[in-house]
Amino acid sequence: MSAIHLQNLVKKFGDFTALKTMDLAIADGEFMALLGPSGCGKSTTMNMIAGMEEPTSGKILFGEKDMAGVPMGRRGVGFVFQNYAIFTHMTVRQNLAYGPRMRGAPRAEIDRRVGAIAEMLQLTPLLERKADRLSVNILQRVAIGRSAIMEPAIFLLDEPLSNVDAAFRAVMRTELKQLQRQFKQTMVYVTHDQLEAMTMADRIAVMDHGVLQQVGTPLEVYNNPANVFVARFIGSPGMNLLKGKPAESDRGLVVDLGPLGVTPPLPDALAPAVRATRGDVFYGFRPEQVALSDRGLTMPVSFVERIGARTIVHLGDGESAVKAVFENDVGLAIGQTAIVAPAAPSVRVFDAATGQAIKAD
Ligand code: ATP
Repeated sequence: MSAIHLQNLVKKFGDFTALKTMDLAIADGEFMALLGPSGCGKSTTMNMIAGMEEPTSGKILFGEKDMAGVPMGRRGVGFVFQNYAIFTHMTVRQNLAYGPRMRGAPRAEIDRRVGAIAEMLQLTPLLERKADRLSVNILQRVAIGRSAIMEPAIFLLDEPLSNVDAAFRAVMRTELKQLQRQFKQTMVYVTHDQLEAMTMADRIAVMDHGVLQQVGTPLEVYNNPANVFVARFIGSPGMNLLKGKPAESDRGLVVDLGPLGVTPPLPDALAPAVRATRGDVFYGFRPEQVALSDRGLTMPVSFVERIGARTIVHLGDGESAVKAVFENDVGLAIGQTAIVAPAAPSVRVFDAATGQAIKAD
């Protein structure tokens, strides 16, 4: 019942198409993140699933049931927004108990459920506190608890952590994942933060400009991005992409990067498909998957960021800028020259004309 199927879903606002023909199947009990930059159509998609917006065309199915015309209150969904919606004149306990009380649940059951959810969200010591005395962080926790206590089969969360502070966000990521594991709801989670999506979701639907770009597990979208948009959007920093022309060499097919020289030979499995592409390509590799070497791309160090033990070295500039991430201090300084070698199995190549990944045959 709580699988969600979006079929040819389209949403237009006047002449503007906010969502273009979205097809997405979310399994029962799956944690699906809708991920993309501001304005890509995530909230519009979510609002249609919730029943707050009507699709312009296409279908939304919960299980086998078509949701057309089914009002929000009858869809069995829980919804948590970026801005917590709670009653500030009530205590935390009263807020959590509100839903079950409205449904006429017996007192003992309400107490049991409030106790369990408060424990899970670390709200037990705060149960008798008035909501107007609580921080934004705690209020959002209460809002999540208020929805979760209804044990909805489908739980929809739209940027629920964007107003809470960074340290608390990390804690909440873990708690939300645990909450979903415990209740086994189908969870749809809207975020523009790839880290949230990568750490929590079973699968991620990456969106841009109203178009679904790729659906996959966090590792699939990280390792095998479908196109240059996903390659850049996933990862922090995103994938390095250098434009060049495929060229034959005595060591195999390479990419001629102009002033940067030629790349190491492309993996054998990739070479035939790259040869067939004709035209420019992007040579892609993850910043985490490079080594300092005596053969590779020779580039000037333009900036060094040290984040604890982790070091992000910025190399080159403009269109030929790349970043390399090391788990220690590699002793490079601005103005020096570094030779970096991308790890061969991690190299990806994209058609520069279409932006699509070139797949190994
Ligand atoms: P954000 O995180 O900024 O909300 P989003 O990916 O959730 O981004 P949506 O809110 O779904 O994006 O909006 C998608 C596009 O549709 C945006 O360009 C937005 O301006 C437009 N849009 C959304 N709602 C309406 C509306 N009611 N009328 C007109 N345009 C709208």
